[in-house]
Formats: sequence, C-alpha cells, structure tokens
Amino acid sequence: MSENMKLNFDSKCVHAGIEDYEHGPVIPPIYQTSTFKFKSTQQGAALFRGEKEGYIYTRMSNPTVEAMEKAVASLEGGYRALGCGSGMAAISTTLLTLLNTGDHVVFSEAVYGPTATLIVNVLSRFGIESTPVNSTDLKNIEEAMKPNTKVVYIETPGNPTLAITDLSGAAEIAHKHGALMVVDNTFMSPALQRPFEHGADVVVHSMTKFLNGHADVVAGIIVVKSHEDYKKFRSVLNQLGGVIDPFNAFLVHRGLKTLDVRMQRLSDNAMKIAKFLEAHPKVKWVRYPGLESHPQYEIAQKQQSAPGGMVSFEIKGGFAAGEAVMNSVKLCTLAVSLGGVETLIQHPASMTHLSMGREAREKAGITEGLVRISVGIENVNDLIADLEQALSHVEEV
Ligand SMILES: *Cc1c(COP(=O)(O)O)cnc(C)c1O
Repeated sequence: MSENMKLNFDSKCVHAGIEDYEHGPVIPPIYQTSTFKFKSTQQGAALFRGEKEGYIYTRMSNPTVEAMEKAVASLEGGYRALGCGSGMAAISTTLLTLLNTGDHVVFSEAVYGPTATLIVNVLSRFGIESTPVNSTDLKNIEEAMKPNTKVVYIETPGNPTLAITDLSGAAEIAHKHGALMVVDNTFMSPALQRPFEHGADVVVHSMTKFLNGHADVVAGIIVVKSHEDYKKFRSVLNQLGGVIDPFNAFLVHRGLKTLDVRMQRLSDNAMKIAKFLEAHPKVKWVRYPGLESHPQYEIAQKQQSAPGGMVSFEIKGGFAAGEAVMNSVKLCTLAVSLGGVETLIQHPASMTHLSMGREAREKAGITEGLVRISVGIENVNDLIADLEQALSHVEEV
C-alpha cells in the first residue's frame, strides 16, 4: 500500500501495517526469532543507544509484532500500539505505567472481573486507591474525583449488563481534574467505536476477542496517542515483559483483515436475535444497545456505529431456566470468552460472575437467569432456530 493514500476503515483493515518485505511476500513473514544478529559491535551499540533503527531482542521489538501493532494503531486512530501477551497484560502494564503510590483511580463498576480485582486487590498493595462507580451516570464519576485521581478507567459497553458510558462526557470530567481517561474498547473494536475520537488518552483491548476474532489466540494491546507516551509505555512493558509473541501477532494481524466485515455481520445478526428474544414469551427482558429499550440507547447511537455482537437476556424462571437453555443449545457453543466467528453462550451467574457472589451480582444487575450471547457470523436463521428449540426446554412459568 502506498504510504500517502487515505483509506476508508474497511480498506485499512485489509492493508494497515503491511509493508514491502524481502522476496516480496504479500503477507508479513513470521520472524520467529528471539534475537537479532548485529552487523558489527558498532552497529549493535548504536542500536542500544537508540541512534539507529533496528531490532535487538524480541521482548523489545520484533518486525512481525510491529506490523500488527501498526495496523491496530492505524485502525484506532492512535500514534503507536504495544502488543501484549493477553488483555490483562495490556491492562496491568497500562495501570502500572500511569499510576504511582498515593494516586487514585476511578473505574466503571461494570469492568471485566480481573480488571476490578487487579485494581482493588493488587494495586492497593502498592498504595493506589480506587473508587468503583456506576459510570452510566456521569454525576457519579464527577463525585468520585479526588485531587489525587490520575486515571478514569472506562469499559463500554460493560460486561455482561451492556451498560454504556458517555465517553466524551467522562473524558471531559477526567481532563478537568487533570486525570487521563483509559478505555477498554474490547466489546466494540475500532470498527464500531473509536474512543480517541471521544477524548480517550489510552485505549486497551483484549485482542483475544473481536480483533483476532477466531478464538485461537490470547493477546492484548495498548494504543497510545503520542511519541512521549509510546516511549514511556514501551519502557515499562520491556521491564514487565508481558509481550505478545510473533506467531500470535501474525494470527491477530490476519484476523484484522476481516474485522470490519465480521463486525458488520455479527452486529446485524445480534440485532435480529435481540428482536427475536424481545418478542419471545419466555424471555423477561433483553439488553442490547441496538434496542430502544436499552437505558443508554441515545448514547450508543452517538458513539457506536453499530450495536455490536453481545446480547444479554433474562429468562423467566431464574437460574434453572438459564441452565435449561444452556444445556439445550446445539449450534451455539456453551463457553465463556467472546468475539469469535462462532456464537458462544454462557451463564454469568454460574460462570464468569460466580465469584462475585449473589448479592454483588444483584447490585450490578446480573440476575440469576441472565444469559449472555456473543453472536457470531453464522446464518442468523440457524441461530434463531437453535435458540427457539433451546427455549422450548424451559418450563412455562
Ligand atoms: C477478555 C477481556 C479482558 C481480558 O483479556 P484476556 O485476553 O483474557 O487477558 C479484558 N477486558 C475485556 C472487556 C474482556 O472481555
């Protein structure tokens, strides 16, 4: 691709990060090497001093990893990106780069479970304070801000209730108080939501989900906006060591090529499934950002270009009803995780959110009958037929 050509997002998915390589391969080669040979002691020393561009050691940088990083940075509209070994490696590296002892973090209470545990149980041991808030109401963020608040950490839509936070509003509050806004954009991917356009300072992803899209890689990424930030994050990542390896970077880069078509297809599928469920007599309610019944429907319209692939719904009859559906699906796969081409279904109360305990779940709106679906790219009629037959196993209440 010519450097100076301005491309639309779907074209960028196919071409971003692809350059010319020796022997002319169309796809970036996998540089499966831990270390790189120096041409001379002088050249090696110049690389270490940062005077020359080049590669030294794969924990520091690797061409296959860099190609994927450039692609994600381009799709998010950031300056550069840092590939990590998992979403949690990206999140922990981000927080350890931005926070010092004595600092305070405000975070959405609906964040991914291990993120909350990291902030509350691990960062607290290093003297970092935190306040979880229901960030769907910006007043709660404003009230939680303190003079030592350095980071406002937002995940939107949140998991599994799909609660949506107004990104521009949250960024404005963070910046007014001299804090940075970090956004976990895993649930949307840059195909549907680009947090930098709404004031975010750092964007993180679990690339395990939509970015890779094929349920065969665990990986994460940090996207930053400036060269200064890039240097700061790269240095900490190099010490913490949670980098992605070349083969996984290659797989993610391959997955990115179809990101836009996958996100459009699974969003269309999810919309039809959400409508089917909303009309089903055994379903109590459906939570989906594309339905007008979603409490933050207006905000979703403002900052998301499509509603995405995650649908949550509550079956009449609570836990037992949820279990009956889980045990009866044939095409949908009973598994946690999300964002792949295949439809996954799971039961948060007995699976991903079991460790929260019933009381905390109820407070967060995660009811006993709530079922979460990560809609894939199968034919939507097949998916609806499967859900229809699974729901027929639920006893009438
Ligand atoms: C899965 C997930 C993570 C963690 O990512 P891993 O790749 O499993 O470490 C973080 N945030 C969100 C929103 C996720 O869905």
